[in-house]
Parts: sequence; C-alpha cells; structure tokens
Amino acid sequence: MIHPNDRWNIVATEPYLKAMGISGKVIISGAAACALGALAAGCKFFAGYPITPSSEILHLMTKHLLSFGGAWHMPEDEIASIGMCIASSLCGKKTMTATSGPGLSLMQEELGAAILNEVPLVVVNAMRVGPSTGQPTKPSAADINCMIHGRHGDAGDAVVILSPSSVRECFSMTVAAFNLAEEWRTPVFVALDGYLSQLEERVDIPPHVAVYQRVTDSCGAPFGKEGIVSGFVPVGGVHPQAYTGVMHDSLGNRGSFLPEVAETFIAHLLAKHRNIIPALKKDDHYAFFEKGNAPDDTELLLVSYGVAGRATKDAAAELRSERIKTTHLNLPMIWPLHEELFEAHQRIPRMVVVENNTGQLLPFLAPYFPNAKKELFAKWNGTPIQTGELVRFCEQLFKKEEKETAHKCEMLSSMQKNLSPQTQMRGIVPWHEYPAEAPFVFVEEKREPENETGISVLKPYSFCPGCGHQSFIDALLPMLEEHGLTNKNTIFVSGIGCGSIVSTTLGVHLIKTSHGRALNAARAVRLAYPERTVVVISGDGDLVNIGGNHLIHTAHDRKRFPMLCVCLDNANYGMTGGQPSATTPLGANTPIPTPSASPFDLKKLLFDGCEIDFFARVSVADHEYLSEVMRKAIAASRKTFAFVQVFSHCTTHFVKNNRDLFSRDRLKELREIWERE
Ligand code: SF4
Repeated sequence: MIHPNDRWNIVATEPYLKAMGISGKVIISGAAACALGALAAGCKFFAGYPITPSSEILHLMTKHLLSFGGAWHMPEDEIASIGMCIASSLCGKKTMTATSGPGLSLMQEELGAAILNEVPLVVVNAMRVGPSTGQPTKPSAADINCMIHGRHGDAGDAVVILSPSSVRECFSMTVAAFNLAEEWRTPVFVALDGYLSQLEERVDIPPHVAVYQRVTDSCGAPFGKEGIVSGFVPVGGVHPQAYTGVMHDSLGNRGSFLPEVAETFIAHLLAKHRNIIPALKKDDHYAFFEKGNAPDDTELLLVSYGVAGRATKDAAAELRSERIKTTHLNLPMIWPLHEELFEAHQRIPRMVVVENNTGQLLPFLAPYFPNAKKELFAKWNGTPIQTGELVRFCEQLFKKEEKETAHKCEMLSSMQKNLSPQTQMRGIVPWHEYPAEAPFVFVEEKREPENETGISVLKPYSFCPGCGHQSFIDALLPMLEEHGLTNKNTIFVSGIGCGSIVSTTLGVHLIKTSHGRALNAARAVRLAYPERTVVVISGDGDLVNIGGNHLIHTAHDRKRFPMLCVCLDNANYGMTGGQPSATTPLGANTPIPTPSASPFDLKKLLFDGCEIDFFARVSVADHEYLSEVMRKAIAASRKTFAFVQVFSHCTTHFVKNNRDLFSRDRLKELREIWERE
C-alpha cells in the first residue's frame, strides 16, 4: 500500500492523461508511456537531441512540459543535453533526457560529473544494435556494460538501471526512476530497447502514483557520508554553494590533492549504492521486486530482463508443461545487484540467463548463484528473442530435443561459442565486498544562511606569480559591487582550466563543469533562474576549443540565453603546459607547433557571424577600460548574450616565450566594444 508523508505525495495522473489526449485503456507506445511517467513524476526540465529510437520522447516532452510549469531545450548534441539536465537539477528541478547508444556514449563524461555530485537525474536509453551507428532501428540490450561501466574512475558504476518489459512498465518504471533518482541522489537509467520504445500496447494507467519529493536542506552539508544520502542544497539557495568536478568533502570543499578525501568520498558513494536494494525491498513504494521463494521442485531457473522477459515467461510456462520444472525470474532492476534479490533462488541447480546481447549481465549475476550450473542464451542480431527458440535451447540442455530442432539449437550453440572466454564467464569480485563503513570528512553543523551577500575572495589565489587572471579578479570584484551583482542575484558557471579557477576563489553560487561544458550548464541555469544574472568565466581552450560547438550554438540562441560570458584569453593551455589553443597567434613559440592558419577571430565569429548583440575586447592591463566594458556587458547581459574577450597574460608558459606577441602595450591596443541596439 502506498501512503503519503512528508516525502511522498500521491499524485493524480488524470491531468497528464488529459493533456496527452489519453483516456481509459488506450494504446500508446513505450516512448509515450515514458513521457507520461516523467510528467506525472514531476519532471520540470527536459533536454534532448534527436536520435532513433528515442525521438518520440523528445517530441512529447517539448509539446507538454511548458503547460506543467516546466522548460525544455533541444541543444546541439547529447553532451549539451545532459549537461543542461545536470545544471537544472542542481538548481532544484526534476530533470530527464532521452537518447540511444551513440548519444549515451557522448553523455558518459557528464554522467561521471552527476555521480560525483550526487545529482538526481533520469536518462531513458532506447537501446539499439551497436557499436557505432550499428543498426539504428534494431532492438537490442547491448548497452548494459556501457550504462554500468561507461565512466572513468572508481564508483563510475554507482548508477541505477531499471528494465521495463512492457509499455505499462515504461510508465511505472519512469515514475520509479524519478523517485529513485531523488531519494538516492543518483543518475537512474530507464533501459528500453528500440522494440519497446516503439511498441504500442493497451495500457491501463493507474489514477494515482506515489511521487518522492526532493528533500532540500539549504543550510545542511550538500554531500552525504558513509552511504547516507544528505539533503539537497540547491545552487541559488540561501547559502552560496559550489558544485565542481573535483573530489570533495561533505561541504563540497575541493580536495584535489588530499588522499583522505578521495578515499572517504569514493567509499561513501559505493556504500550508498550498496544500501539501495535492501532499502527498496522494505519500501512498499517500490513494489516491483518479486517476493517469496522459487518453487521447491525447480530444476531450471530462467533469468531475464527487459523485453526478453516476455518470451522467457512464456518459455518457462511451456517448459513446465513439458515436465521440465522451470521457474522464471525477471529482473526489474538490473543494476545494482545484491544478494537480497536472489535469496529466494539459492537452491536452484541450473540456470539460463536470457539476454538480447552477447551476455553482458551474466558475469555480474553469476556470483549470486554459486551452486547453479550456468548457461547463457544470448542473441545479438537485432531481432527479439522468440519463445520457441528459447524452449528448444532449454530442451536441448535437458537432452529432450527432437530431431528437427537439433539444427537450430546447434546454430544457437555456435553463437555462444563465438563469445570470448572472458565474456562467457568473467572472474569478478562481487561489488558488495567493498568496505561497508568508511570514515568521512563530514561536517554535522548546520550552516547559517548568508546575511552578507556581497561577493568576495574566499580562498587564496592559486595562480602563478604575475598571472593576468589574478589581475582580472582584482578588477572584477569592484565591478561586481558597482553593478549590484551579489549572491542573491548572480550565479556563476565555469569549465576547466586556469581561467575557470577565477570563480572557485570566490564564495559564490557556482557550477564548475567538465572541460568545455560551461555554456551547457549556463543555459540551464538561465532557464531555471530567469531573473538572475548568469556569469560564465572560463578560458580560451575551454570556451573556444573543446567547447566551441556549445559557444556558437549558445551565441546563436542569444535572446533565449541572455548571460555574460567572459573568455579569459591567455592564448594557450596554461594548466597543461602551454600547448597552442584556438586563439594562439600565428608563429607563436609553443611546446608543440601552432596551426599554420590564423587564430580564431572571435569578433568575426560571434558578432559578425552569430550576430550577438554585444562583443568587446580588452586587456587585464587596461583596468579603466575593463571596468567600462564590464559595465556595458552586464547591462547588455540582462537581455542578450554578451561576450567579453579579456586578454590575460600567462606568465608561466606563453609570455616568456612570446614577449612581442603578448606585451602589455600591444594588448592595450586591443580595445573595442561592438554593440547592436
Ligand atoms: S599557467 Fe599561466 S594562465 Fe595558468 S595560472 Fe599560471 S600563469 Fe596563469
């Protein structure tokens, strides 16, 4: 029985059914059921890039989200989509994106950032045959490994994967995915396949669903300890909060060099992940786990997930009728796994794992069935598993095959033989053997709401002596004050690199993204807080090289995304050793050869090409003019995308080898403002 309390609301589905034109027991697709589930679960932001077979979710969310108080965007790629979702979630919104294999590959970098920052987030993945473009419309469950282990680093697998097998479950599991994401502060996948996404079935949508409300604690510690989920501290709340991609303690203080911070925080993420299944098994709001024991007479256990569960269920019934005592176990949640999921099946002598791929889940399942003889029924050719072929495979195992089916069974067996020994049975250490308890640098005390909202330097500068970025901060702070920018009305965003460190030295609301992704987060913040000023400060490598695609698309959509974007242009990659960037002058002396073409002219690219309304060039050495530029840029950023290229000298790498190109006198000449009415 579901019950409301301070964390759970009972939500009527009728308004969402009505909006989507669904009534009674209707026929809808798996994709439509996911969109309906997201709306009912309280999704308030969706960003997605079109890709078959998930595009219908994009169409439906963009059509209906606005009328339920939400926002959406279709940016230039999947990296931007998930980056926007993460930033919107950090601003307090429930968010979702939808994609398929190639898009999921692009999203992996940002999924790591979401895991590290314990960001509630739902990702629908409509799987298809791969790798690469593969077979775009053919169903497959081939992304299991990619969803579990696609990220670099430890605890990259601290995600949840739900696996619906019907259109009805697409609805209920999308609702459950939002609940899990919010309750456990983690990314949750809804793993469809191309078949289920487009499959249309008659569905009886329940009149009410239980929806978990995000628990916000603006003055608490933003990160948990020892596997315990903390309250959520929003960017833009009563206390300035920085979310970065760096390993941190429970207050979010960056610990780039501290072994104890990495040790305790990774242990915390693993412990949190391990706690999910035992907690869900006791919670009636999550009713999809099978209860009770397998029948005592079971000779064969068929284990399946996703659409394969449909044929497997029928196969189990057929095999029983043919006197092979078969039990079917379908897994609604395929990650994390935990011994409590399988305790009812410990005496099983033989099992077949049924997968629409080369057997990606079997190695993870195997340790939980130490006494069973394990077989794999694997099919990865882009067609769904059929009941008959699975029955024949199992009959052969029990040496009951008939003559005419032998050939087909041999064919299937030869598919199994093609698998590498590692794939057939990898020797793995079950993840639940990781340490349960770990000391954690955790601050219990509540923080006071900030009464002083002025922006000031929080930490000592970490720039090299003489670095131009330090001069920029010295000039920036009075300008912020003069123009009324405080922590009450301003949110900062930056990426990676020396220029991005400017924001982390300040005590501000900050989202510091993965390399090059600042403008994705900034666009989402803009939509979440339309009344505030969004200030992006990053470097030339971050904004123009790796983030160049995001830059031109944000500039192109200048009216929808008014913000101030400051490019601290030091003409090289300072943090990584002085390599040339897109703005390095021709003929510069750098550790590796510069391109033979002229550097990017950002004024031509953005003001002339993308037709932004405000562009300025100025040097950090030109304090007076910098102040004038910033005054005008801040004013312009209230209505449009305002870009300021600030030449800032890198003393460690660039200036010492290129004194003529970056002299103070020369940079002072590069001063101009271009502005449209
Ligand atoms: S490497 Fe260059 S840009 Fe980076 S902090 Fe040092 S001087 Fe500044």
